[in-house]
Amino acid sequence: MDKECRDLLRKEQRTPKKPKKQQAPDASSAKQDSEKQLEEEEEENKENCDNQSNHRTNQNRQRKLFGGEEGDDSGHSHPVYKEISLKNGFINRQDLSTLKRICKVESLDSTGKRDLLSKRLKQYYKVKMLKEAGLMEVNRGFDFLVVIDFEATCEDKSGDYPHEIIEFPAVLIDVSRSEIVCSWRKYVRPVINPELSEFCVTLTGISQELVDGADEFPVVLSQFEDWLSQNRLGIEKTFGLVTDGPFDVGRFLRLSCEQHAIPVPAWASRWINIRKSFGNYYRNGSGNGYKGPGLQCMLSRLDLQFQGSPHCGLDDATNIARVAKCLLRDGAALRVNERLDSGESRAAKERRLRQVAHLSRHESDEWLARCKKSIEKNKKDNRLIDTA
Ligand code: AMP
Ligand code: MG
Repeated sequence: MDKECRDLLRKEQRTPKKPKKQQAPDASSAKQDSEKQLEEEEEENKENCDNQSNHRTNQNRQRKLFGGEEGDDSGHSHPVYKEISLKNGFINRQDLSTLKRICKVESLDSTGKRDLLSKRLKQYYKVKMLKEAGLMEVNRGFDFLVVIDFEATCEDKSGDYPHEIIEFPAVLIDVSRSEIVCSWRKYVRPVINPELSEFCVTLTGISQELVDGADEFPVVLSQFEDWLSQNRLGIEKTFGLVTDGPFDVGRFLRLSCEQHAIPVPAWASRWINIRKSFGNYYRNGSGNGYKGPGLQCMLSRLDLQFQGSPHCGLDDATNIARVAKCLLRDGAALRVNERLDSGESRAAKERRLRQVAHLSRHESDEWLARCKKSIEKNKKDNRLIDTA
């Protein structure tokens, strides 16, 4: 039985760890490696699979299926785990072109390097087999994802620059179909530095005329919220904000709101930094996945080319959405993993961006539950109004 399968078993039954065996000195590093890999896979399964309550449901279902009692390990014998293990072994032995062919047969995306295709197929068969065996409910998280990528005023120097958002794009993804549904974009007229620097124009491709003819930030923010409402987001459907890195909300949106003395909207208080999601899901060697790879790197690992012009907000957002689509199709559940923070604590002062804090898995589940609850309440209120 291979590691992935052993790990699955462990997750399903939640058996306590076996006491470590005495290792010969020369075997210890190999053991550490394999343990590390197992831990990583466990983390990965957390990303893929359902939440803890589902997990418990699965345990109970397994017990019902096999007549096992609490603490009884009869569920271990479910033949599906052996089947998954065999399938994983088969996938491990295939070369890139065969993996591509299998992806095509299964109507899966066949782009990506060998390790990604292998992961995609293993995840696909694992989910399929567990579902068929009645052992898995997939929690896909939010109903929709809204990818944003702000462009802001800038100069060719680092330091404290009062960035103002000048391009506000959004790309909408339907999670159930893993498809881009539509996009939206407005330019924004800056007020602190109304004249764009030559550097900014060259970097972003945004002309002075475009911003001169645009509305100021508060108007555009309100138009964006209208667009959210038109798509029933936050009213009938849950949505999660997706960014490439911590700066879009942690710096650009926060500063623009501050500059106009308006609070950061609640829907932007937590977001999915796709770099972290990507790093955690595909395990690209960035350790704990905290920083994660940049957009170009994520695209290249998926064997995709950047489409459009880098630093054009809408093109950046569309390419981030393409990465998000792949993650969804490969079985990842995208969860919020960052939030705004006052930045005053001692811990915050150690961070690269003081105002952005990491969210734990528990906090992200809580946020999703809150979003779902708010939708349920809206639906109930509307029903009350309808029937009044
Ligand atoms: P991006 O999403 O990478 O296009 O960057 C978003 C914003 O960050 C840009 O609109 C600029 O305001 C700022 N920015 C990006 N790259 C640079 C750079 N090399 N120098 C200064 N500012 C930059
Ligand atoms: Mg950009």
